[in-house]
Amino acid sequence: MLLNLLEYHWVEDIDEALLLLGRADVKTVALGGGTYLLGLDDDRIEAIVDLRDLDLSYIREDAASVHIGSMTTLQSMVDAPALKEMATGVLAKAARASSFSRVIRNSATIGGTLAIGAASQADVLTVLAALDAEVLLRSGSRTKLDLSAGTVERPGFALAGVTFKGKQERRISCINLSHERRPNELIIEIIIPRPPAGTGAAFQRIGRTPTDVALLNVCALVDIQDGNYKQVRLTLGGVNMEPVRLQGVEKHLEGQVAMNEGDTSINTQILVSALQAGMTDFSPPADFRASGGYRKTSGVNLALRALEEATNISRWRNMVSSKEGQ
Ligand SMILES: Cc1cc2nc3c(=O)[nH]c(=O)nc-3n(C[C@H](O)[C@H](O)[C@H](O)COP(=O)(O)OP(=O)(O)OC[C@H]3O[C@@H](n4cnc5c(N)ncnc54)[C@H](O)[C@@H]3O)c2cc1C
Repeated sequence: MLLNLLEYHWVEDIDEALLLLGRADVKTVALGGGTYLLGLDDDRIEAIVDLRDLDLSYIREDAASVHIGSMTTLQSMVDAPALKEMATGVLAKAARASSFSRVIRNSATIGGTLAIGAASQADVLTVLAALDAEVLLRSGSRTKLDLSAGTVERPGFALAGVTFKGKQERRISCINLSHERRPNELIIEIIIPRPPAGTGAAFQRIGRTPTDVALLNVCALVDIQDGNYKQVRLTLGGVNMEPVRLQGVEKHLEGQVAMNEGDTSINTQILVSALQAGMTDFSPPADFRASGGYRKTSGVNLALRALEEATNISRWRNMVSSKEGQ
């Protein structure tokens, strides 16, 4: 319960929200779906800014990317045709897995989920990291200045109490959001660059039950061209874990031959060698659900299965598009 809440602002434009969130004297926070915030036991919060009227609930596409407004609910992401189509629907699947309660998904927003980060326990974080998604942040500031008059040579007016309203906007990578976001910055939207057309993608998870939080989850994106791995993205995450990009594995695979010579089966040995070499630094945390050792061993197996699935999909897509081109 927010026992010291004194102000509730139902704002109609983003600038108003930014000015309220930028106040230094009143601890003010944004309200998305409220599923996390309203259950918090935080006596410092004095004001909340309700974002529901800001037209930030949308999923828009252009040739290069997909834009998801921060007030878009997880359920809208599950249902959106644009997300079902992009990268074999991994983001829509992860949005569903992020909370198996439809009641929560109907309220919880992607902005609120990203703002909490690992504490949200949401599977979407791992998939957004693999997709190289970026977050558009905006903050506002108000500065009061007393401008002095000019000199005898260059006369001017003295102006007291002039207020400047400033706005800053920046894009940062989703994977760095929890370290880099400042408290007064509002998440405006998430920008996902479209993966290349032949990309295969896979999202998999391990939980104690199919509807429980993920002990581990993985997202793999694979683009095969002329039989070789052109681009690989691999991220692992899970409950109480920040998503980790396994760049060592990605680098090992890029440029390697994806299929066994003379047949159409996947060159699994290449994948195993890349995982063995690239996951030596992967040291997931332990908690009451699973030890770090269990997560590490399962992570290698899960990553292998996801890479195999993504490789198969990419190969199949390439075959279909080359047949269509004939
Ligand atoms: C019963 C219950 C079960 C839950 N189960 C799960 C679960 O299984 N999996 C899961 O992932 N989560 C779960 N949650 C937690 C919660 O639903 C999610 O983390 C959710 O994604 C939070 O989103 P929200 O929009 O409700 O955020 P809010 O509660 O509105 O806000 C969360 C935080 O984000 C900030 N914020 C919100 N929007 C923005 C913005 N646009 N810009 C900047 N900051 C912003 C708020 O100030 C606040 O600090 C559960 C919650 C409840 C109550």
